[in-house]
Amino acid sequence: MPADLQTALRILLDEVNDGFRDRVVIGGLSGFFQNFVRSAGNAEVAKAAALLQDYGSLDHDRRVARINAVLKMLQETDGSQPAAPARRVDGPTTRVPKADRPWTWLAAPAPGTTLSTPIESLQGVGPVRARLYKRLGLRTIGDVLFHFPLRHIAYPPPVPIAQLFFQQEASIEGTLARLEVEDLRRGLKKLHAYVRDGTDTAHAVWLRHGVARIGVQAGQPIALSGKLIQQGRQLIFDNPDYERADGPRVHTRRMVPVHPLTAGLTEREMRNRVHWAVAYFADAVPDPLPQTIRAQHGLMPMGEALRQMHFPSSPEGAAEARRRFAFQELLTIQLVVVQRRLHAQHDPAAPLPRHDAVLRALKDGLPFTLTAAQRRVTDEILHDLALRQPMTRLLQGEVGSGKTAVAALALLNTIATGYQGALMAPTEILAEQHFGTLSQLYSAAGDQLEAVLGRRPHVTLLTGSVKGRERTRIYAEVADGSVDVLVGTQALIQEKLEFARLGLAIVDEQHRFGVRQRVTLRRRAADTVPHLLVMTATPIPRTLALSLYGDLDLSTIDQMPPGRQFPRTVLLDPEDRGLAYERIRRAVAKGEQAFVICPLVEESEALEAKAATEEYERLRIGELKSLRLALLHGRMKAADKDATMRAFRDRQLDVLVSTAVVEVGVDIPNATVMLIEGAERFGLAQLHQFRGRIGRGDRPSVCILLSDLAGPGANERLQAVVDTTDGLKLADTDLRLRGPGDFFGVRQSGLPELKVARLDDAPLVESARSAAVAILERDPELSEPEHAALREHLEAFLVRASEPS
Ligand code: ADP
Ligand code: MG
Repeated sequence: MPADLQTALRILLDEVNDGFRDRVVIGGLSGFFQNFVRSAGNAEVAKAAALLQDYGSLDHDRRVARINAVLKMLQETDGSQPAAPARRVDGPTTRVPKADRPWTWLAAPAPGTTLSTPIESLQGVGPVRARLYKRLGLRTIGDVLFHFPLRHIAYPPPVPIAQLFFQQEASIEGTLARLEVEDLRRGLKKLHAYVRDGTDTAHAVWLRHGVARIGVQAGQPIALSGKLIQQGRQLIFDNPDYERADGPRVHTRRMVPVHPLTAGLTEREMRNRVHWAVAYFADAVPDPLPQTIRAQHGLMPMGEALRQMHFPSSPEGAAEARRRFAFQELLTIQLVVVQRRLHAQHDPAAPLPRHDAVLRALKDGLPFTLTAAQRRVTDEILHDLALRQPMTRLLQGEVGSGKTAVAALALLNTIATGYQGALMAPTEILAEQHFGTLSQLYSAAGDQLEAVLGRRPHVTLLTGSVKGRERTRIYAEVADGSVDVLVGTQALIQEKLEFARLGLAIVDEQHRFGVRQRVTLRRRAADTVPHLLVMTATPIPRTLALSLYGDLDLSTIDQMPPGRQFPRTVLLDPEDRGLAYERIRRAVAKGEQAFVICPLVEESEALEAKAATEEYERLRIGELKSLRLALLHGRMKAADKDATMRAFRDRQLDVLVSTAVVEVGVDIPNATVMLIEGAERFGLAQLHQFRGRIGRGDRPSVCILLSDLAGPGANERLQAVVDTTDGLKLADTDLRLRGPGDFFGVRQSGLPELKVARLDDAPLVESARSAAVAILERDPELSEPEHAALREHLEAFLVRASEPS
C-alpha cells in the first residue's frame, strides 16, 4: 500500500478510536483531506477527501457511516494487492479467519444497530458465541460497553528492535518476516515469528493448542507487546500480544484492558468486541449525569469515560473514568434514599406527645432497669414521635442490647396518646417471640397501666396459622381500633389490613437489609402517615448507613445490659474438629443446646442447602449420633422451618445444623455452644451476629470458629473476631477489607450491585450525597429536561433493585 494511503488510513483509524469526534487532526478531517489531496494527488485520497468534505457538520451516526465508506474503499484498494504468502514449515496453509483480519472488525454496524441490539445478531458472533457472552451477563452491545476491565496491562510505546534488552516488557513495530509452525506433542504447536524493523530482527513464540495462526501474514506490518525472555544469547518475546501495526491499537503499544472472561472466550476476542463497541457506540450512551453536576465534581462525560475505562490514554485517564462511574453508582443510591426521605416528609404524621405517667408505669414493672443507652434512644424516639413530621428512624443495637424493651416503651406511648402500633418481624417465630415479650412486659405492669390508661393494653398476634373466623375477628378489631398493638410478620401486616389509627410502625429487620421495601406501611392511616422505626442488630459503619439507610435518622444502643456474658470465641484448626464435637456433647450432657452453622455457599442457595444436608447426615450417623439433631436451611418450606425452630426452642432438640441464610434470631437462652464451619467465608460482622445468638442465659458459652484456610497469617481476619467484642469495630474492619457485598454476605445484603464504587470511599459517598440533595432540591421529581436521562437511569435501577436476588 502506498505511504499516502497508509497515512490516510492511520488518521481514519485514529478517528474511529477517538469516537468520531473530529479531533484527531487540527482543523478537522475535512480540512486535512483537502490539503492532503494537494500533496498526495492520489485517486483514493481524492475520493476520500470528497466523501469527507462535510464531515465536521455531520452527526455521530452519519460520521460513522461516512468513515466506514472511506475505510471500505481504501480496504478494497489494499485487498487488490497480493499479500506475501506465509512461509510454513509444515501443515496446511494458514487460513486467516475473518475476525482476525485487521479491519474487518471495523465493518460498520448494520443499519439499525443500536445499544440494545442483541450480541448474537452481530457479525461473527452467532448463537454459540452469544451463549458465552451471556454467561458473563452480556446480552446487548450496551452490556459489552459496561463490561468493565479488571485491570490494564501498561505496554510501553514501541522502540527500535536493536534497543530491546532482556527481562522487560516492551513493544516493537516492524514487518513480519516469516512465521514458522513447530508441531509438538498432542496437537500442541509452537509458532515462531520473526519481525524486522531495519535495526534488527526480533523473535516471538506462542504456544498454541491446534490453532496455528495469528492473522498477520509475512510481509505485513505487525506490532508486538509483551515480556522478553532470554534463551541462550537470543531475546525472545514470550507469548506476546500482537496485531497489525497499521490498524488501531487494541492489543499492543498502549494500556490494554484485561476483561473478565469465561471458558471459550479469549481476551483477544473480547478486546476486539469491546473496542468495536466503544468505537461505534460509546457516544450513543445517554449520560445520566447532568452537565452541571459533571462540571461541579470534575467528572468525564459518558463517552469519554467509557473510552478511558477500557482503552485509557494514561493511568490517570483510567482512574478518572473509574471515579466517574463510581460517583454515578453512589449518586444513584443517594437519589433513591434522599428522594424517599423527601417523600416521607411530605405527609404529616399524628403527633404522639410523651406520656410520662404511662412510661413510668411500664418502667416500674420491668424486671430490670434500663441501661443508659436504652434511656437515651428512648428519649430520641419519643422526641420524634411528638412531632407532626413523621419519624423515620433506624434503631441500631447488637443482639441482646435490649431493643425490644425500647420498642415496648415507644408502642406504649403510642397507645397512651390514642393511637395503634404495629410490630413486624421477618419470620413467624420471631413475631411470636415479640408477642410473648410485649405481653409479658405489659402484664407485669398491668395494674399500674390500668390505673393510668383506664385499661390494659390489648396486644394481638396475627400469623399465617390464624385462619377463618378468628382472622376475620382480628381484622375487625384492628379496623375498629380495639387492638392496641398488632404483632405479626411483615407480609401479614402489609396485607389489606385497615387500621383505625395507626400511629407507629416498627419493623424488626434483624439482619436483613434493603434499599427496597419499607414503603407500603406508610399508607396505613387515613389522613396521616404512621411514624416508622426500623430495628437492626448489625452495626453499620456510617458510609454504609448513609447508602442503605440515608433516609433514616440513626439511634444506637451502644451498651449491653449488665451481667451479660459474651461468648468466649476460639479459632480451631480443622484437624481439631473433634474437640468441637466433644464440647457439644459435654454441653448437651448438661442439658444445654448447640448450633452448627454450615459454610456459606455464595453461588446458590440450592448448593448451600445440599452442603448443609450432607453435613447433617454426616453428624447424625457420626460424631453426634447419640444426640437429637435437626436440619434447617433456606430451601425448606416456611412452615417446616418454623416447626424446627420451635422444637429447638422448646428443647426437643439438642443440636441445630443450619445454614447462614436461615433466621437464627430467635432467643434460645439454653444454647451455649456454636460451631461455625468455614468461618473464613463469612463477614466479620456476620460472625459477630451469629455468636450473639448464644450466651443469652447465665451459663458460660463458647463460639468455635473452624477455618478451611491453612498456614500462618491466613486467619488474621478471624483472629479479629476472637480478639474483640466490639461489633462496630469489626464491621469497620470488614468493610475496609472486603467491601460491602461480603460484609453482609451478598445474597442477604439487599445491596444494589456496585461495579466500580466502594461504599467505604467516604469522601465520594459524601459528595454523591450532596449532589443528590442539590439535584432533588431543585427538581424533586427529576422532571426537568436536563434530568431526563438521570430519571430514566434511576427508574431502570429501581426495577433491577426490586427483582429478587
Ligand atoms: P435485642 O436487642 O437483641 O432485641 P432483646 O430486646 O431481645 O435484645 O433483649 C435481650 C435480653 O436482655 C432480653 O432477655 C431482655 O429481657 C434483657 N434486657 C433488656 N434490657 C435489659 C436491661 N436494661 N437490663 C437487663 N436485661 C435486659
Ligand atoms: Mg430482637
